Amino acid sequence: MPEAPPLRDDCFAMPQGVDWTPVDTALTHLRDALGVVTSEKVIPVADSAGYILSRECHALRSNPPAANSAVDGFGFAKDSIGPGPQVVPLIAGRAAAGQPHESPVPAGHAIRILTGAILPPGVDTVVLEEDTRSDSGSVAFQNVIRRGANTRRAGEDVEGGTMVFPAGHRLIPPDLALLTALGISEVHVRRRLRVAVLSTGDEIVAPGTGNAAPHQIYDANRPMLLSLLERWGYHAVDLAHVGDDPAALRAALDQGADRADAILTSGGASAGDEDHVSALLSRTGSLQHWRIALKPGRPLALAVWNGVPVFGLPGNPVAAMVCTLIFARPSLRLLAGGEWDMPRGYQVPAAFTKSKKPGRREYLRARLNPACAAEVFPSEGSGRISGLSWAEGLVELGDAAMEVAPGDPVRYIPYGSFDL
Ligand code: AMP
Ligand code: MG
Repeated sequence: MPEAPPLRDDCFAMPQGVDWTPVDTALTHLRDALGVVTSEKVIPVADSAGYILSRECHALRSNPPAANSAVDGFGFAKDSIGPGPQVVPLIAGRAAAGQPHESPVPAGHAIRILTGAILPPGVDTVVLEEDTRSDSGSVAFQNVIRRGANTRRAGEDVEGGTMVFPAGHRLIPPDLALLTALGISEVHVRRRLRVAVLSTGDEIVAPGTGNAAPHQIYDANRPMLLSLLERWGYHAVDLAHVGDDPAALRAALDQGADRADAILTSGGASAGDEDHVSALLSRTGSLQHWRIALKPGRPLALAVWNGVPVFGLPGNPVAAMVCTLIFARPSLRLLAGGEWDMPRGYQVPAAFTKSKKPGRREYLRARLNPACAAEVFPSEGSGRISGLSWAEGLVELGDAAMEVAPGDPVRYIPYGSFDL
């Protein structure tokens, strides 16, 4: 009988050297390897939130299109009346939003003007109603305001013709307001990227399967990944789950490549006996096993199946989630025609202590305490799904060794930075 080798203190330590790919190197590879796969279409601006522009957008008119009043008050030409206290004759009529006063206001006169009204000819300044006394024939105020006060210049927000969004920009609701204000009613966008999600493993059972046996695990990754994709504006294609069976796996991948532009699998992505996703993908000759210097989530299998990129994510839900946020998110954005987009992080004080080993990057499930310091989930186990829910973001610890003490600055990336 063979003898068990003694466990060394560093038996779980990360081997140092070139075969562990740093996260940034992996990201650079992805950025260089991937490009847009989706075709173009034209849609109304009103329906365009979440879509990625395929062409740049230029303003068809200025915002505002003409100089107008920012307040309710009285308009006049600043230099046509003297400084200090003044009683100025009012001309008949008024200027209101949508009801322009076309004829000029003579020098030394004023006109009643309301918010949003185009400045009539002869008006360059507006005095706020609250700073005046008036009757039907005249208005009294202190002429101490600067020329142009309480008015908006034509094009002061955006000049007509300006490029407002580059191709690759993903539209958010305020963009719809801007485009519409600028006279744009239709946009060229990329069709929604279709991304298929497949869970693998003999132990996995579908949610809703009553009385799962103790050796069975509910498919936690699939609803998480599907909803992430929908949130990112993609069309998520549910490939359900298959056991560790090469024929079933092959059929599922075929279906994924038919119905989607990219495939996310979870489970079976390492290089062990039961890692069937890896085994099958390796036969395509395109498999790259990236042993990424990352915790959690080291094995990431990348391959091309029938022309469609496959991201073989680790099975552990925490690792699957982190790999999706860090690697799949920017990759899918490129496939969808978007810009390479790294999540924004913020330096905050740590509310924890940690001694971190060199040679890999770590993402800790974290959230901000009331003092805006980052606290981390007590367990780093990659099966601890509850920590993902507990967290409101991730703390990113760089590749080098690091001693973190309470109060030290750490990089906190809120879930919102991943568009969650
Ligand atoms: P694997 O990457 O296949 O070695 O799986 C790693 C761990 O993740 C195992 O404990 C699996 O049971 C678990 N796992 C794999 N797929 C899922 C899934 N879809 N939902 C929940 N846990 C999973
Ligand atoms: Mg497995």
